[in-house]
Amino acid sequence: MTAPSLSYWLATAPPFAGGAQGGVEGKVDVAIIGGGFTGLSAALALAKQGASVVLLEKGRVAGEASGRNGGQCNNGTAHDYGALSARFGKDVAKAYYRAHCDAVDLVERIAADEGIDCAFRRCGRVKLAAKPAHYDKLVRAHDLLAAEVDENVRLVPPERIREEVGSDAFHGALIQTTSAQLHPARFGVGLAEAAARAGARIFENAEVTGMDRLAGGGWKVTTPKGSVMASQLLVATGGAPPAAPFGFFRRRIVSVGSFIIATDPLDDALIAQLLPNRRNYVTSKNIGNYFRLAPDNRLIFGGRARFAISDPRSDLKSGRILEEVMGDIFPALKGVGVSHVWGGMVDLTADRLPRAGEQDGMYYSMGYSGHGVQMATYMGQAMARVMGGDTSPNPWAGLDWPSVPGHFGKPWFLPMVGLWYKWQDLIH
Ligand SMILES: Cc1cc2nc3c(=O)[nH]c(=O)nc-3n(C[C@H](O)[C@H](O)[C@H](O)COP(=O)(O)OP(=O)(O)OC[C@H]3O[C@@H](n4cnc5c(N)ncnc54)[C@H](O)[C@@H]3O)c2cc1C
Repeated sequence: MTAPSLSYWLATAPPFAGGAQGGVEGKVDVAIIGGGFTGLSAALALAKQGASVVLLEKGRVAGEASGRNGGQCNNGTAHDYGALSARFGKDVAKAYYRAHCDAVDLVERIAADEGIDCAFRRCGRVKLAAKPAHYDKLVRAHDLLAAEVDENVRLVPPERIREEVGSDAFHGALIQTTSAQLHPARFGVGLAEAAARAGARIFENAEVTGMDRLAGGGWKVTTPKGSVMASQLLVATGGAPPAAPFGFFRRRIVSVGSFIIATDPLDDALIAQLLPNRRNYVTSKNIGNYFRLAPDNRLIFGGRARFAISDPRSDLKSGRILEEVMGDIFPALKGVGVSHVWGGMVDLTADRLPRAGEQDGMYYSMGYSGHGVQMATYMGQAMARVMGGDTSPNPWAGLDWPSVPGHFGKPWFLPMVGLWYKWQDLIH
């Protein structure tokens, strides 16, 4: 096994060569805080619009969620479409769903336009019914999606499930056929190179420790490498526990660990038996799993194994749980070598809908709740337009965003939430 907590994606991505050298200084139109998909996509779009841009990243570009995720770039919302429709009405639910589909198209377009070698592939996403009753729900979901918003969906009835997955654990499935997958860290580094080529100055190892409003308008943004004056500011700090200057977001974003293992490469005959169509897979439980094959035939198998934060010790503990679950689903993989174990922080909102807009003169976009590969990329571009005065591209404008009661940054309540979800999985 390689070093704990080393994401397979980050271990197999090229280094970022276009980073800015020297001190952080000067005056720019926009300062972006955070070098994940949100910040990098915004930097690319803003630089292409002709703005002068500085991006400040605490660690390495795409080093957090953007380089540690499951690599699934799926159509559709984190939510059940029917529940969204019941809460917001059909038109809004449709707009949210379509925004995710547009976001997948955008990722594909950026990868093609910027020549990013990230193995983008329209593979389809399979939602696997973990209990017989879950298949009934998938049938209802399919019928509503097909009637209202997505014709590219199809059902796999229980008796044909082995055409999709070589396991006795599932009872039918719903496929969103236009969903895609990619190598996320390669995409992130490629986005950073593209933004740097367009003129954005991207500083790694430059944690923002202070933001001060200037009397005449604009901001002074401080890092250990120096300070920069910016007319506008975009906070794109994702789910990495945000430091002191970001109090507003700390009280609204709940950062939860999600964990992944990568196996040694599997041989083609075994893959033909287990996952013949090489799609994205998610299971229907609340504490479910997500998996897919990597380009070199490793199985990337993830889940919220424990309701905990991600750190090297927690990642290893979770990795052992994931290995067991993987073996339960695919007995043929019991004892297969595990090459990488890692985790990352997912930026959840209380209702699992993203939030983006302006707060106290700061622009922000975050809270993708596990669906950020496509949506963070999309929102980076959208926020570039919003900051230019056109609010129409922000699908999340107007959503209220109360703070989470009792939450001040450390999610002390996670174990209780975990128990509640486990209970729900037992009874439903
Ligand atoms: C394990 C895991 C699996 C996932 N699987 C999927 C999936 O399969 N499909 C999907 O769609 N989504 C998935 N997600 C979610 C998705 O990865 C995220 O929603 C998306 O990457 C968020 O991008 P971001 O740029 O907003 O945040 P991030 O990628 O977290 O980037 C934020 C950046 O801000 C930096 N930062 C924070 N504070 C400061 C500061 N003070 N100064 C400077 N920089 C700072 C951080 O270092 C970080 O690099 C997963 C997430 C995780 C953790």
